[in-house]
Amino acid sequence: MRLRQIDHDTIEIDAPAKVNLFLEVLGKRADGYHELETVMMGISIIDRLRFRRRSDSHLELRVHLPRDCSMESAWSIPSDSSNLVVKGLDSIRSLMGHEQGMDVWLWKGIPAQAGMGGGSSDAAAALIAASLLWEGKWERDAVCQTAASLGSDINFFIEGIGKRFCVAHCTGRGEVVRPLHLAEPLALAVIQPPEGCSTRAVFQGLRQIGEKTPNKNLLTALESGNVSQLGAHLFNRLEESACQESDWIQRVKSEMDAEDVLGHVMSGSGASRFALCHTRELANRVAKRLQGRLPVLAFEASTWSVPSLEAQMKSMGIQS
Ligand code: C5P
Repeated sequence: MRLRQIDHDTIEIDAPAKVNLFLEVLGKRADGYHELETVMMGISIIDRLRFRRRSDSHLELRVHLPRDCSMESAWSIPSDSSNLVVKGLDSIRSLMGHEQGMDVWLWKGIPAQAGMGGGSSDAAAALIAASLLWEGKWERDAVCQTAASLGSDINFFIEGIGKRFCVAHCTGRGEVVRPLHLAEPLALAVIQPPEGCSTRAVFQGLRQIGEKTPNKNLLTALESGNVSQLGAHLFNRLEESACQESDWIQRVKSEMDAEDVLGHVMSGSGASRFALCHTRELANRVAKRLQGRLPVLAFEASTWSVPSLEAQMKSMGIQS
């Protein structure tokens, strides 16, 4: 998250997307969720959100889509009370015991149904804004507690910031977050096919579960900045199930196989796929080539790099 104070009542937040460098499903739990072991990394594809405190109790969300939003599945974003931003604001104000309102403007840059955590990142931004604008201070415990009750990926966007980069090892259903150290930012080409995937359906279609804890090689490669080794250890257990959901998963995979990249894998529950590249220039070229061959959205991205939330708040003069 990158925070900007606009005035006393208004804050703007850049909320990043994420990819999963590794995702293993360890089992099904009694509550219906799946126990996961995953390594998530924030990337430089962002949604921009502006929050303004209201004097009444109304929660108003306006969603602005990108200028070229012809790909319907990627940009079908609700602006009513089913949006996680509204759900998050409503639930944290109940916890805080008040009924203040908020105006929210959301400029989408992260496609939906992509496994890139766009909705979760927006929700994380909303909880941070609620704490700063309604309480005037950083209520970390209330924010993290609400995040975990709302969804599985939201805590990563709040707690997953290491020394320089947003990257973490996550367990539980994804909400138990341990930040990792990353030596250098990674360069990625990210592709979203014209058909998205439903997270629920992909988890339901899972036939095989594993016990492949992120092997030491992946974590060592990550921390030492050995990108070739990292490319060889990318893994996602949900890929097979997502292939049953959409033919596009296999199609994008085959196209990436033909590219000279360090490795590629589906992100989250799909449908996006990313390739790890030597440099940002190469990632840009791969993204452009794939966009030329397929009717997809293509992005060049790198690891999201921000100071910790606490450091940003300190420089804004906010008590944490
Ligand atoms: O937590 P979130 O709302 O993002 O999850 C959406 C759906 O994905 C859940 O309702 C559940 O069916 C499935 N899921 C799961 N195990 C997880 C995360 C999500 O089964 N760890």
